[in-house]
Amino acid sequence: MTQCFIDFLKEQDVKFIEDLDIKQISSIGIGGRAKLAVLPNSEEKLLKTVSFLTQLGEGYKVVGNTTNILFPDTDFRDVLILTRNVNGYRIENDMFYAECGGTFSALIRKIADLGYCGFDELYGIPGSVGGMVFGNAGAYGKAMSDVTVSVRIYSPIADKITEIPLEQMVFSYRSSALKHSGEIILSALFRTERDSAEKIRARLLSIVERRKRAQPSGKSLGSIFKRHGNLPVSRLIDELGMKGLTVGGAVISNKHAGFIMNASEASAADVRALISEVKRGVYSQYGFIPEEEIEIL
Ligand SMILES: Cc1cc2nc3c(=O)[nH]c(=O)nc-3n(C[C@H](O)[C@H](O)[C@H](O)COP(=O)(O)OP(=O)(O)OC[C@H]3O[C@@H](n4cnc5c(N)ncnc54)[C@H](O)[C@@H]3O)c2cc1C
Repeated sequence: MTQCFIDFLKEQDVKFIEDLDIKQISSIGIGGRAKLAVLPNSEEKLLKTVSFLTQLGEGYKVVGNTTNILFPDTDFRDVLILTRNVNGYRIENDMFYAECGGTFSALIRKIADLGYCGFDELYGIPGSVGGMVFGNAGAYGKAMSDVTVSVRIYSPIADKITEIPLEQMVFSYRSSALKHSGEIILSALFRTERDSAEKIRARLLSIVERRKRAQPSGKSLGSIFKRHGNLPVSRLIDELGMKGLTVGGAVISNKHAGFIMNASEASAADVRALISEVKRGVYSQYGFIPEEEIEIL
């Protein structure tokens, strides 16, 4: 990493961590070390950081809560930009405006206290606003595409901020236009509904309980595979008797066959080996190769 970038970060008062152990920030607790992780605490600092790196021609990866990324066991050479401190939010004309780095569920909870809702089913997904818009996260029949009004994005190549209306987000199952564009989500606007804080809180609680009944707790990346059409791949993994299958420290959850857990100091190689086992099993029995929902770096 060039000294001039470090100097720039100091000059702009942008927090950074050298030699970060990615295991500490990854929700599955896996990864090598990142040479440099940057934690801007405002949209302006995020923009300046990305713009500076683009001008330098340095590689970077913008991440939210790292709940959908399997990092490699080897060192990560690109600059890791963590958005978690760019986390402002407000209610604006009965709409919910949120910056990219806030944890969506935590914000749902906060606006519930003000009597705003419309996000019940999405509660409990552990992603950031940016990560959830990026991958059109969803659960229990609702996805981000159902609640999004518009998304503010930054194009590093054009050095330009644009407000993208819902129609241009090209949302589909666990996908959006942003997946292929290299643009950065700065913030998003969501439509809301109104109800009493008490009723909303009760509904959120029942969603949490539903999740707890269905999903294991512990270190994971959530569901590893996308549905195949309407078919949950987890059901096939279960039918194949693969629950509990272990490679190194990684294990297919006994509670939900779609989850691979880091049971004990698992490596990315262990997780990848289990993924390959599942693909082999599903292909030989059902004739298709399941597609990952997670991003493997
Ligand atoms: C226990 C558990 C349960 C889960 N349940 C669900 C579920 O019910 N439904 C579901 O859909 N998912 C679920 N997930 C997966 C995950 O939480 C979602 O995919 C979530 O949207 C990822 O958000 P994140 O902030 O962690 O993104 P990250 O993992 O940090 O990043 C994911 C991708 O988004 C990109 N990205 C992040 N922020 C930005 C930004 N500001 N601009 C541009 N790109 C950005 C990253 O570069 C990366 O490519 C679960 C995960 C876990 C661990």
